[in-house]
Amino acid sequence: MPAREGDYPVIQYADDTILVMPADETQAETIKSILQDYASSVGLRINFQKSTLITVNTAADTTSRLAQVFGCSIGAMPFTYLGLPMGTARPTVADLMPLVSSVERKLSTAASLLDLGSKLTLVNSVITSLAIYVMCSIRLPPKILDHLDKLRRYCLWAKNTNDGLKAVSLAAWDLVCRPKHKGGLGVLDLKIQNQGLLLKQLHKFYNHRDIPWVDLVWNTYYDGLVPHASGSCGSFWWKDVMNLAPTYRAVTSVKARDELDVLQTSLASLELTEVNDAWHTVWGSDELASSKFYLHYFRDMEADDVFKWIWKAKCTNKWKVFAWLLLADRPNTQGLLKRKHMKLRDDNYACLLCHHPPEETVEHLFFHCEFSKACWGKLGIAWPIHGNRVQLLHAAKNTWIGPMFMDVFIVASWSIWKERNNMLFRSVAPTIDGWSQRFKGDFGMMRHRIKEALVPFVDQIVALL
Ligand SMILES: [Zn+2]
Repeated sequence: MPAREGDYPVIQYADDTILVMPADETQAETIKSILQDYASSVGLRINFQKSTLITVNTAADTTSRLAQVFGCSIGAMPFTYLGLPMGTARPTVADLMPLVSSVERKLSTAASLLDLGSKLTLVNSVITSLAIYVMCSIRLPPKILDHLDKLRRYCLWAKNTNDGLKAVSLAAWDLVCRPKHKGGLGVLDLKIQNQGLLLKQLHKFYNHRDIPWVDLVWNTYYDGLVPHASGSCGSFWWKDVMNLAPTYRAVTSVKARDELDVLQTSLASLELTEVNDAWHTVWGSDELASSKFYLHYFRDMEADDVFKWIWKAKCTNKWKVFAWLLLADRPNTQGLLKRKHMKLRDDNYACLLCHHPPEETVEHLFFHCEFSKACWGKLGIAWPIHGNRVQLLHAAKNTWIGPMFMDVFIVASWSIWKERNNMLFRSVAPTIDGWSQRFKGDFGMMRHRIKEALVPFVDQIVALL
């Protein structure tokens, strides 16, 4: 593939080199002698058998003659270069399965061992390092995205149950995939992320960045044409990128330089000017960052501020995810199990702490239960009688004096949940003292996570109990 006229690129990253050249025997012999001259001048020996010759649109006998010149083996597309399948045809699902396996290897070992907060971090960091690299260049087929989502869902929700390791989803996947400040868990939506990354290529193209492939695509396909008004053309890769043109144009605005001037000139001479248009993103930057596109996608989604409070809290991720589940009404309370049509013994869905009928809900268990009210009372928190969990939190925060309201709320709720689970799974009767000891231990650990100035406050809270 010529980069510029008569100019063939050498692509070299790490220890893998690709030489691109015409299928011509004389050129092959020249390259070979250059390589050998280089090798003997530095005292190295080139092992040609370790190299592979791959031809495009070349007869088999020419291919084998060229391979003989180099003394190397003949390969076929697609081949793997820097972990990406390289070929002239769209990579198949099978070609991309090594990516799925590598994600699987990294996620599956951790699935049952980590707490929810650590799993959340792992799910995003593994995907960030493995899949995003591929998604910068290739549009991943829906089947591969499904595979990756399945693995991520499993990793996040896998739990040891009586029937072995099982994934029990506590929240809908599309809710999990919303950004944190939009009420989700911030797990990356791979389809949107993939689009954002490919849009960067389109942005380089429309802005005529000085990059060989940009020149090549303009000169080969769009000489004097408007790309998004022309038909589909080029390789599978370019077609995938160009399919995003409507999305791209929705998030950018074009500033035609000296618009009137261009119009007059073209009307006068009916010639196209050499001046290129400049495309800007609607969020106001010249560069198209995939992260900005990602957030733009969710722009119309609203979430209450309490979700921002969670992620701004100082406590560990494990507790934050628990608080998220609580505020999203997702902990498996007896009431939720009833809504999920699970039948409990004697049809008894009452609160496990105070036996209050008819059923244990998030609002009852964490706010209005007599047991919990006594716990909150020790911290000086009294909840209003009416309102949902989000409204209750707003009301209590307004009357809270001092910092770290959200941390106190999260750690105290966690301790209530533990008292409740001890009753459910171990038949240990809940006690205010048990709740208090656990809260003191957990909240005291915050000392190591906060700035010096807040430490006396933590001590003051612990001393209340
Ligand atoms: Zn209760």
